[in-house]
Amino acid sequence: MANVLCVLYDDPVGGYPTSYARGEVPKIERYYDGQTTPTPERIDFTPGELLGSVSGELGLRRFLEERGHRLIVTSDKDGPESVFERELPEAEIVISQPFWPAYLTAERIAEAPRLKLAVTAGIGSDHVDLQAAIERGITVAEVTYSNSISVSEHVVMMILSLVRNYIPSYQWVVDGGWNIADCVSRAYDLEGMQVGTVAAGRIGSAVLRRLKPFEVGLHYTDRHRLPELEQDLNVTYHPDVESLVRVCDVVTINAPLHPETEHLFDDELIGKMKRGAYLVNTARGKICDRDAVARALESGQLAGYAGDVWFPQPAPKDHPWRAMPHHGMTPHTSGTTLSAQARYAAGVREILECWFDERPIRDEYLIVDGGKLAGAGAHSYSPGNATSGSDEAARFTAG
Ligand code: NDP
Repeated sequence: MANVLCVLYDDPVGGYPTSYARGEVPKIERYYDGQTTPTPERIDFTPGELLGSVSGELGLRRFLEERGHRLIVTSDKDGPESVFERELPEAEIVISQPFWPAYLTAERIAEAPRLKLAVTAGIGSDHVDLQAAIERGITVAEVTYSNSISVSEHVVMMILSLVRNYIPSYQWVVDGGWNIADCVSRAYDLEGMQVGTVAAGRIGSAVLRRLKPFEVGLHYTDRHRLPELEQDLNVTYHPDVESLVRVCDVVTINAPLHPETEHLFDDELIGKMKRGAYLVNTARGKICDRDAVARALESGQLAGYAGDVWFPQPAPKDHPWRAMPHHGMTPHTSGTTLSAQARYAAGVREILECWFDERPIRDEYLIVDGGKLAGAGAHSYSPGNATSGSDEAARFTAG
């Protein structure tokens, strides 16, 4: 019998939904590169339901209880009095979503002697101290590709909404106005601009593919050069991020957070961007220096900043990104549409079936295994820890 400790975000303020805006979500069987979407033996949920909040339970309860395991689901994840910290010493498996991350710091891992598997329901396992997981022999797995396209769509939406000044224009209508000049005095066309992605993995390359018809100049930088992508999309490669930001009007960040990328966008790098550039970050908040971004918006060095990722999460009420000018921030939502939830819930189920039946977890799902970075983790991460400062998440109070 295993204790499975699952941290999910709260249900909607008005209660768990009893009906949905649409009757179904499209069934996707393969991703762009041919990888199959998750293939669990069975699912106990209807795709399109809210699975990522506490009452949705990622559709796992029946499966786990039928096999004799104990499932604890909570949103109470921060601080020493939290349900998460209380249950952690007995947990063999922790499941968490990046949107509402249960930070598994070295200190918490030390309090969890039975912990063997940390599953990310989604993509991005930076909320786990990967170095500590390596040293303790904990397997870390995520559902690679499950929400990459969801995020790429969000990136395109945010680029367009910043460049075209959509959010303030919408606000004028809500407020009863018709202030065209106010709306358009910061509005431009994307056509003809230079757009670059920091990392061209699953999300970054999907953003480039989606932007191609907009008749923009496309750029990328990445740890590995991608000749096929360059040829197919006529994308310009930059050997480093400085070279990319100097020529781009719009920069989108699509790299994982790990020691190489933590605070990559600081005052110095933002200072090398074109004046009035737009920065869209749906990768991880900590890739940007929080205060440097706010300063650059105040000074006009950046014309806009948008994204859905913060550090820590949830962001405290006084986080400067809530109040800085010309931003288009949302809570961390881009990878947790109802469509994405169906895929990553099925992926978590697939990982757990493999774990309990002692079958190998797909290589592309592994981040840490056997005391080292493995699978997708060996390709895209570097060893180390990016969780420091996460205890500040306890400062958030809902309401
Ligand atoms: P991939 O693994 O497909 O792509 C990551 C890419 O980043 C790889 O091409 C990798 O290079 C590259 N990379 C790693 N380090 C660097 C670096 N220092 N400089 C430049 N490139 C680098 O992952 P996805 O595209 O699916 O996801 C990317 C990230 O987006 C996730 O790690 C996660 O943090 C975030 N994300 C956010 C979501 C949200 O809801 N907002 C949801 C899903 C993901 P290479 O492999 O060539 O070494």
